[in-house]
Amino acid sequence: MSAKPKVAFFDFACCEGCQLQIANLEEDILGLLGLVDLVEFREVMTGTAPEYDIAFIEGSITRKADEERLKDIRNRAKILVAYGQCAVTGGINKLKNLHSDMMEVRKIVYKDKAAMEHLDTYPTRAVGDVVKVDLIIPGCPINKDEFVSIVKQLALGKIPRIPDYPVCVECKLKENVCRYDEGEICLGPIARAGCGAICPSNGVACDACRGTVSNPNKQAMHEVLAKYNLTVDEIIGKINIFAVDPEVSK
Ligand code: SF4
Ligand code: SF4
Ligand code: SF4
Repeated sequence: MSAKPKVAFFDFACCEGCQLQIANLEEDILGLLGLVDLVEFREVMTGTAPEYDIAFIEGSITRKADEERLKDIRNRAKILVAYGQCAVTGGINKLKNLHSDMMEVRKIVYKDKAAMEHLDTYPTRAVGDVVKVDLIIPGCPINKDEFVSIVKQLALGKIPRIPDYPVCVECKLKENVCRYDEGEICLGPIARAGCGAICPSNGVACDACRGTVSNPNKQAMHEVLAKYNLTVDEIIGKINIFAVDPEVSK
C-alpha cells in the first residue's frame, strides 16, 4: 500500500446514516484527509476512481445488480471494509426477510407501483454473504470516534481490533441500573460492546445495534431471562430488529 492509501466509499441499500456520520466529522475530517487520498465518495464529492487501497461499503445487498456492482468493487480494492450494520449483518433491512414472498414486500412499500421492473428485490444479504470482507465496523449508525480510529490504524498499515465482549461489561463499569430491574428487555449480555453502553447509560435498553459478540454466551442470556421470569419468545422481537442470529436465543 502506498504512503497515502486511496480510499473510496460506496453505498447500497441503506438510509445513508453511516456515511452522514462521516460527512459530519467536522474538524476530524481534516486529520483524516492528511492520512488518506479520498478518491470516490458520492455523498461529498464528484468523480470516480479505477482502483482503491481501501473500499468502505455501506448498506445491504438486495438485488442481483447490487451483487455484480459489489463484486466489481471487491476486484478493484485491496482492503474491503463493511461499515454499518446494514452492511455487516443486513441490519434492519433484514426485517423484510421475515416475509417469504418478496412481491408481498414490494406491495407493502410501493403499493400499486410494486411490479415496476427496477424495484426487483431479493432477500437481504450482508456484504460478507456476497464477497470477502476484510474488516467490519459495526453499529447503526457507526460510531464516529471508532471510525476515525480505524481509518488511522488502516492508514498506518495496522489491523484494527473491534471489541468482542458484551455491552454488559461497559454498562457495569458505568454502574448503570440494569434495564431488567426496570422491567425492560436488554440484549446487553450478548451484544457487541464498543459504544460505551450508551443506551443503558441513558436509560434505554440495548437492541444490539452492533450485532453480537462472535461467541455469544447463550447460557448467560438464558440465566438473565430466567432470573426475570422472561421467555425466549419475549426477546424475539428485539432480536429481529438488527438481524441478530436467532440461534443465540435457543
Ligand atoms: S446501519 Fe443504520 S444508520 Fe447505517 S445505513 Fe444502515 S440503517 Fe442507516
Ligand atoms: S443487561 Fe443491559 S442494562 Fe443490564 S447490565 Fe447488561 S447492558 Fe446493562
Ligand atoms: S447500547 Fe446496544 S443498541 Fe445502544 S449503541 Fe450500544 S450496541 Fe447499540
